[in-house]
Amino acid sequence: MSTRADELRSSLQQVRERIEKACQAAGRSPDEVTLVAITKTFPVSDVRALAALGIRDVGENREQELRAKAPDCPELTWHFVGQLQSKKARSVARNASIVHSVDRSSLVVALSKAAVAEEKTLRCLLQVSLASYGSSEAATGAERGGVAPDAVPDLAAEVASADGLELGGVMAVAPLGSDSDEAFAGLQEVASRLRSEHPGADWISAGMTGDLEAAIRRGATHVRLGRALLGTRPPLG
Ligand SMILES: *Cc1c(COP(=O)(O)O)cnc(C)c1O
Repeated sequence: MSTRADELRSSLQQVRERIEKACQAAGRSPDEVTLVAITKTFPVSDVRALAALGIRDVGENREQELRAKAPDCPELTWHFVGQLQSKKARSVARNASIVHSVDRSSLVVALSKAAVAEEKTLRCLLQVSLASYGSSEAATGAERGGVAPDAVPDLAAEVASADGLELGGVMAVAPLGSDSDEAFAGLQEVASRLRSEHPGADWISAGMTGDLEAAIRRGATHVRLGRALLGTRPPLG
């Protein structure tokens, strides 16, 4: 009889093999790539099962779900990866250690205030729009959010000088219909320019179930995997 834990053990093993293969092909060590399990829509029992299998980093894309699950597993490192309204900044600062989706000044101000109030340091990644890289005419990155590459230096300076925040690097989602390899090559350039100004900002969060190989080839340090680990998500209500 196959239990959910067996299912997760087997998918985690397959994912680890995919990451290892991709690293091998890219001449990188798997130790350079952190797997962040994106558990959105799945119950906290799945989070606990993944933790029992060695997962330490978990991510959510909605504040409400983060708030519901994170307090049950405080030993894990919680990442917030979704679009964030400033009024939800306090809750996210309380429940997560890393925010991957910082894309505007007003959010920097809100997160800084929230982190100070929570007396913690929040690691912030700038979400970069890759609409100008590797996109066909039809593909638009707009709906996936993010700051334009040209605006990264200014936003980075704001995060770097904000109380309670630490600039961690960049994050992106490949635009729909784009060539993910070209898109992530663009992200890698943005990341390397950022690092020359801010040496500690060395994370590249890129790669999901469909494109983790391209992301690892292009320097991803954090891959965000949902479906490959947990299976098909029920449609959002
Ligand atoms: C859902 C989600 C993921 C995981 O996507 P999968 O295709 O299920 O691996 C990664 N990043 C973000 C921002 C997400 O919202």
